[in-house]
Amino acid sequence: MKAHDGMYIDGAWRPAAGRDVIEVVNPADEQVIGRVPAGTAADVDTAVRAARTALPGWAATPPADRAARLAALRDVLVARKDEIAETVTAELGSPLKFSEGVHAGVPIAVSGSYAELAATCSFEEKAGNSTVYLEPIGVVGAITPWNYPLHQIVAKVAPALAAGCTVVLKPAEDTPLVAQLFAEAVHEAGLPAGVFNLVTGRGPVAGQALAEHPGVDLVSFTGSTAVGRQIGAVAGAAVKKVALELGGKSANVILPSADLAKAVNVGVANVMSNSGQTCSAWTRMLVHRDQYDEAVELAAAAAAKYGERIGPVVSAKQQARVLGYIEKGVAEGARLVAGGTEPPRERGYFVSPTVFADVTPEMTIAQEEIFGPVLSILKYEDEEDALRIANGTVYGLAGAVWAGDEAEAVAFARRMDTGQVDINGGRFNPLAPFGGYKQSGVGRELGSHGLTEYLQTKSLQF
Ligand code: NAD
Repeated sequence: MKAHDGMYIDGAWRPAAGRDVIEVVNPADEQVIGRVPAGTAADVDTAVRAARTALPGWAATPPADRAARLAALRDVLVARKDEIAETVTAELGSPLKFSEGVHAGVPIAVSGSYAELAATCSFEEKAGNSTVYLEPIGVVGAITPWNYPLHQIVAKVAPALAAGCTVVLKPAEDTPLVAQLFAEAVHEAGLPAGVFNLVTGRGPVAGQALAEHPGVDLVSFTGSTAVGRQIGAVAGAAVKKVALELGGKSANVILPSADLAKAVNVGVANVMSNSGQTCSAWTRMLVHRDQYDEAVELAAAAAAKYGERIGPVVSAKQQARVLGYIEKGVAEGARLVAGGTEPPRERGYFVSPTVFADVTPEMTIAQEEIFGPVLSILKYEDEEDALRIANGTVYGLAGAVWAGDEAEAVAFARRMDTGQVDINGGRFNPLAPFGGYKQSGVGRELGSHGLTEYLQTKSLQF
């Protein structure tokens, strides 16, 4: 797709206030594929003003009409799904099939789910002698990352619009093209001017200006814990609502009664998918000591099969970061059984699918989010030990439990300090609330819980 050289503000593409641009690079071949404007505080201010002006009208639009606009948006995304997939593949590097199924497919499902929720939510409750109205929070500042670039946009914008909020989006620097495509889709779907606004730009400039803007009522951020902490502090000082979807170091707990080969193979696939750039990835595999050697062998063999199929990581910076973690794993005494620091290709930001055995819970690679195709396999003595290890990081975003008996897996999952657990390979559900315990974040996205984030209550007593 062709990059726009302006910002989508108040229903039209408008020139940016400054001249700075961001070059978009295809991580598979290191070629520049487009340039977008790097917005400044002035662009953010124009966008927030447009969103504020549009707010009363959109908030007063009957939910059924908001639902109809969201359904139209879903239809445009369906009509343009091939273009979406090609754009994400070009700027993120994910294999085209994965882009079609996940990067285009999931946002279609999520926008459809909010079309339905907007149509069916009553936005009103009774509580004794009160009527409680669920009203939009106001203007939303959405700041998104690059790893599931369109999904993370839609997971914020669709519920915000369903709730009656208006939005200013600042997408990630690495993947602004699919964000521009999304703005075109919003326009085609006939959303009123100012309801959705896009400012491309750098985090510390445009992102920070958006988080700090007094005209923003809620900041919804997905990305690194370091930036999330800053945004939380800024929003807290201004007594603004904030939603943070941060990192993870999720545990894949394989109990002794599980189908070991299936659990290991699905576990490796989960980590390698999207080149390991998934905040909910099961990057720690926990295996009982008696099955440990067999699991390591199975995982090494499974990882080797990904060698040719895996896409690059998003950027040179991310590649250096991931390789740094692999070096650290070796230095701290973990045993490499697949992959390593040797890039598999000369061109492009590729990292070999990597598996570490003999990882102990205190090692850096067992504690920090690597965000690359790197799996750590840890040994546990008994169930209590497994639980201690599973819960032994600052994160709590996702996880998995495998057992011969579903009830056994559920009992273990209930003791995990984490927001989501997949039981025996349970599938991703776009209606299930997604979000973290502990330092994985604040708030929930998706489904009705995701809608609630964008609503505030007003109680009238009779
Ligand atoms: P990041 O947190 O720096 O970027 C995420 C978004 O925040 C981007 O839009 C960015 O422009 C913006 N941003 C950056 N600094 C900002 C600031 N000071 N104020 C406001 N907005 C700001 O993440 P990154 O550098 O792209 O990735 C670094 C690491 O973060 C990754 O290696 C990974 O571990 C983690 N990460 C996690 C997720 C997730 O889904 N949880 C997503 C992306 C990255």
